[in-house]
Amino acid sequence: MSDTVLLIEDNEHNRYLASFLLSQYGYEVHTAPDGPRGIQLAVELCPDVILLDIQLPTMDGYAVARALRQSEKLAGVPIIAVTSYAMVGDREKCLEAGCDGYIEKPIDPATFVTEIERFRPVPPPSETEP
Ligand code: MN
Repeated sequence: MSDTVLLIEDNEHNRYLASFLLSQYGYEVHTAPDGPRGIQLAVELCPDVILLDIQLPTMDGYAVARALRQSEKLAGVPIIAVTSYAMVGDREKCLEAGCDGYIEKPIDPATFVTEIERFRPVPPPSETEP
């Protein structure tokens, strides 16, 4: 079964690009265009990774991250902020809100997926390994 990514992003172009790149690496990608729908989908799907835009309509990414962190079901799911905010302190704001990592926009197709994988928990060693 392939790993599932939930992408919460209001920009259609970024949704398309990120979905395309992730699906090339074998991920099953689900998308939501805003925070409330993203939170609902997160609880339904319990994805392996959540990618979260910070600049979202109605409810910003910080509020979404805090809401996601209220859910016990999603406790082990990494939340990675994907944002063009490049101000000093934004990384800290993302981490304070409950994100595990931070990727800067614009999305770099050459490194996007490997950057995401850096923030995922290390898989347990396989039993067949010495
Ligand atoms: Mn946005």
